[in-house]
Amino acid sequence: MSAPTDIRSLTLAQLGDFVSALGLPAFRARQIFAWVHARGVTSTDEMTDLSKALRAELAERIDLAPLAVDAVQRSSDGTRKLALRCHDGQRIESVLIPTADRLTQCISSQVGCALGCRFCATATMGIRRNLTPGEIVDQVYRARALLDAEREAGTWPPAALPTAPHEISNLVFMGMGEPMANLDNVLAAVEILGEDHGANFSSRRITVSTVGLVPGIETLGQKNRHVGLAISLHATSDDVRDDLMPVNKRWPLDKLMAALRRYPLPRRRRITFEYVLLAGINDTPADAKRLPKLLDGIPAKLNLLPYNPCRADQPDLLRPDDAAVEGFAEALRRKGINTTVRKSRGLDIDAACGQLVLQNPPRAARAPAQGAASS
Ligand code: SF4
Repeated sequence: MSAPTDIRSLTLAQLGDFVSALGLPAFRARQIFAWVHARGVTSTDEMTDLSKALRAELAERIDLAPLAVDAVQRSSDGTRKLALRCHDGQRIESVLIPTADRLTQCISSQVGCALGCRFCATATMGIRRNLTPGEIVDQVYRARALLDAEREAGTWPPAALPTAPHEISNLVFMGMGEPMANLDNVLAAVEILGEDHGANFSSRRITVSTVGLVPGIETLGQKNRHVGLAISLHATSDDVRDDLMPVNKRWPLDKLMAALRRYPLPRRRRITFEYVLLAGINDTPADAKRLPKLLDGIPAKLNLLPYNPCRADQPDLLRPDDAAVEGFAEALRRKGINTTVRKSRGLDIDAACGQLVLQNPPRAARAPAQGAASS
């Protein structure tokens, strides 16, 4: 018999083909899909509306092994970081970030990353492999299972955020990896998550982030323009961007911004620009002047992220002080740019933006770094 099929990676249409190849009627695909993606079962034994004989047959033919939860770290601000292990032993991380009225999950698309951004901890791992669609969606199901267990134990909502939602409201592909370097699997995962027979997670609540792989941006615009698009910009000149993000040598700012101006953005939607602030490198008055020109003509919102130091091998990368951050933000607001300074979340468990890297064993929660968070 052939190797068991990883059905968590199949879209509903693909599962329909799989089920029909087994000689089963089409409605079985919807039943099985709902068990896997709406109820999150991890064994055919739990599919109680299938006959025992069919459950036994499926158990032989399908692989439903979930990601193993190696560790959960809990931040004093309510953030949860899950260390997850794939079937081949590779480990990834996924982060739940609550606010008073949102619960966002930051998910990984690759084990490690090939793109080598200087400010990013994941870059130190290099690329190990792409995640399958099943491994991407299962990060959501393991997080849901964690929330169920925490609600039962009375630890959710977290004490720091008593009004935090009970269910995940938004997904962002901003964990380990460059989503556009694994775009087929990311798009399949978005399709699977969006099925109303499954998790019913509409594309509008999902954001895909990229450092600027232009062909991937174009493909996303053709295949699913309703997914939110976020661009990791981080510099206003090619010199600085080349130095921080080697991808810029392949797709420099003029090519990236031209692709974004062509992007078929739905009405009333904006492209989010992420901008890690590095003292003296990309937070100068000249940057504050160039940034509005770069964004001109693009419906945009800008998130400023004061750098979370995470690379001992990059000692020149420093976090600006709060006054410098606020001054930069104000200069942009005066130019009419919709600008937010993002609070760092989960700093005490290395779950903040750019800090996801495998540690073995995971570090225990530490006290938050003094003065590290800003608003
Ligand atoms: S910032 Fe993103 S693209 Fe750059 S190295 Fe890190 S994970 Fe890769």
